Order: sequence, then structure tokens, then C-alpha cells
Amino acid sequence: MNTSWNALFVRRGALQEGHFRLSSGRHSPTYVQCAKVLEQPEDAERLGKALAVQAPDVGADRVMAPPMGGILIGYEVARALGLPFLFPERDDTGILSLRRGFTLSPGDRVLVVEDVITTGKTTREVLELIRAQGALPVALMALVDRSAEHRVEDLSVHALMRLDIPAYAPEHCPLCVQGIALTKPGSRPVSTHSRG
Ligand code: ZN
Repeated sequence: MNTSWNALFVRRGALQEGHFRLSSGRHSPTYVQCAKVLEQPEDAERLGKALAVQAPDVGADRVMAPPMGGILIGYEVARALGLPFLFPERDDTGILSLRRGFTLSPGDRVLVVEDVITTGKTTREVLELIRAQGALPVALMALVDRSAEHRVEDLSVHALMRLDIPAYAPEHCPLCVQGIALTKPGSRPVSTHSRG
């Protein structure tokens, strides 16, 4: 199931091989940037349809995705399922909250969509927000699941691609040992002149 999507990710530069410094500070031979595979609207629509087909039959009545990465694919999944879409935003203190007139009511059944799930930190914040409104998170989907447990709290991750990508502490990184130039994703190799 993964192969054709994997090829699309590679073709669009959304899945890159090399030596990357992740935002966590760890080093990895693979970098995932879903924004690149959503750059072409027709790709985003196809991915949304493919994900929607896998949506578990749990009676979701709306779709929510966290900013920024989840919003495009969340919207496409909502479109494919014919459901309304809403998204939270971080306030000045960094807390996710509903703004722009978006609301949830007790009993609402929410399908949560992400681009990539790694540690599940953002996902847990979204689940907490939904439950705080008395609504129910009923399913969790992602374009890419690179989490260790393939679930967040009591929800399994339904993903188009499941990637088992190693991440090393810098002092134990075999790629550093091999002398491969380290890249900070989205920019040039950090070992050369930085443009900031
Ligand atoms: Zn390294």
C-alpha cells in the first residue's frame, strides 16, 4: 500500500534521504516534509481521497486538523468525506484554542487528521481541546505515521504511510561518523555558510 505513495513523496521532495538535523536536535537519514507533497492541489486532493477511504466507520461528523501542517490534508479529507472542517490555533501563550467562530458542542464526533505524527505531542493537545468542549475524538489519521507506537492515547493511527525512521543523538550518529554533511531541513547544509 505504501509503495506508490512513497514514490510520490520522493518525487515531490517530501521524503528526502541524507543527513538531517531534526527540530528535536537529533540526527536522521530521512526527512519528511508533507507540505511538499501537498504543493500541487491535485496531489492534495488525491491524498485526501485515499486517506478518506481508510477512515474507520466511527460516525465522525466533523474533521479537525492542527495548524499549520495538518490543515491542507485535513481539509481534503473533510472534502472527500463531505464533512465540515475546523482547525484550532495557538494563542499568545502557545495554547491551542478554537477561534474564528469555530465551535464544538458536547457529543460532536471529531475525526482528527495530521500530516505527520511523530511524538504525538500536538495530537494530544488536539485531543485535549476536543474533550474540553465535551466533544469526542473518534479517530485519528495521518499522511505519515512515524510514531513508535502507532497510536496516541486510545486512538490508533490510520495512515497512508508508516515509516520507521531512526533518529540518533548527535554523539551517537553513524552519519556524522561517516562525515556526511549535516542538513537542517528547509535550508542548506549547516556545515556551510548559513543564510539564517
Ligand atoms: Zn549526524
